[in-house]
Amino acid sequence: MQTKKSFEVLCDFDGTITNEDIGFSIIQTFAGPGWLEIEEAYQRGEKGSREAMTEIFQLTSVSEKDLQQFVDDNFFIDPYFPAFLDFCRQKEIKVTVVSDGFDFYIERIFAKYKLDLPYFANKLQVVEKRLKADFPYRRSECGQCGTCKLQFAEKIKQKGNSLVYIGDGHSDRCVSQAADILFAKDFLATYCRENGIEFHAFTTFAEILTVLKTITGEEG
Ligand SMILES: [Mg+2]
Ligand SMILES: [Zn+2]
Repeated sequence: MQTKKSFEVLCDFDGTITNEDIGFSIIQTFAGPGWLEIEEAYQRGEKGSREAMTEIFQLTSVSEKDLQQFVDDNFFIDPYFPAFLDFCRQKEIKVTVVSDGFDFYIERIFAKYKLDLPYFANKLQVVEKRLKADFPYRRSECGQCGTCKLQFAEKIKQKGNSLVYIGDGHSDRCVSQAADILFAKDFLATYCRENGIEFHAFTTFAEILTVLKTITGEEG
């Protein structure tokens, strides 16, 4: 008897679940002069995200309370994301958030929208009014990422499950090649087009939900 392949979803956070890249907005708002040069070196691929974030955080100044307020006041989630989660729960499709952003704001957004799902991300603390990053999910094989998303993809593939990946940015590049079904927008969509990686374009989770229903055999 052949067992049916199960789907598992890995999903980016910043700019994918949320309306904007929160990590980037924090940097734009609270980092002093010099951050843009470092950011641009990251965008050009000359620095990995771990190196870039560590350097940029040296230039920040903000209290923990102000940072909390900033996160609470300025960001929201894709309005169809809860419906997408409900569908995945019904179908027993596990959804995990993998982020090269930070636990600090992911937890605040989850709390705000009463979302309860597993996530892996970098750690952010405010120490003496300066942001401090830790990277517990770095991978020695990859010198670039803070949280290297490929390791979570590999675990899913090792189980023999099909990987559904959803993302929008630079930190989704490596993992996008491991996806069985890929949803991409913005930078990631351009990257996939340029590199011949097949993907479903999306702007909201409503479109992802429609495709996923077809793929998972909602037709029975
Ligand atoms: Mg993103
Ligand atoms: Zn990596």
